[in-house]
Amino acid sequence: MNLFEKEALVQQKAVELENATAEEILAYAVEAFPNITFACSFGAEDVVLVDMLQKISPTTDIFYLDTDFHFKETYETRDRMVERYPGIPFVRVQPEITPEEQVEQFGPELWKSDANQCCNIRKVQPLTNILTKYNAWITGIRRDQAPTRANAKKVEYDTKFGLIKFNPIAGWTTEDVWNYIRENDVIYNPLHDNYYPSIGCEYCTRQVMPGEDPRAGRWSGQEKTECGLHK
Ligand code: SF4
Repeated sequence: MNLFEKEALVQQKAVELENATAEEILAYAVEAFPNITFACSFGAEDVVLVDMLQKISPTTDIFYLDTDFHFKETYETRDRMVERYPGIPFVRVQPEITPEEQVEQFGPELWKSDANQCCNIRKVQPLTNILTKYNAWITGIRRDQAPTRANAKKVEYDTKFGLIKFNPIAGWTTEDVWNYIRENDVIYNPLHDNYYPSIGCEYCTRQVMPGEDPRAGRWSGQEKTECGLHK
């Protein structure tokens, strides 16, 4: 399928699937694109999608970006997910350089001096590398998470990485996510219960108090609002 055909298919499918359920979108995605993967951060949205995927297509590849800088609670959530879903390998994707090598090459606390460079090394490049193996990917982004995500389609052509992108819960609210977690007894990161609605690396995530924007705790004090994984 050439680029023109892909973009035409994506536009048609985005219209057709706009009112489909998340499960219907996932079922279509894994059937139409067997060479698909899901990028899991172990945040609330992503544990929902893991739960759905293991019911719909338990052999679909799932990976996570291990920046080496996650909260211990995030790693513990990963370990609990591995126990809950023993058939899912949860492929660990790592940066090309260790934290020590990063300090040697760029100095200490790069997340303070140049967060974009740090995210590029520890998230964007590893993601770029793994996505070259696939022709479609699934993410847990939602439109109401941030203005930068407000126009996300449930199916779109990802021009940044050159593959088709499915956002099955793009239209969900926070309440929808937590209803699913409760109704299906899904494992989740306990930091969510401690004023962390959005969880990234430990160095770049702070608690968010009631009334604040849910993503106010990410790169707080900087203009940066996204790590560069989603346009
Ligand atoms: S979120 Fe912060 S620590 Fe993590 S990769 Fe980006 S800048 Fe670095």
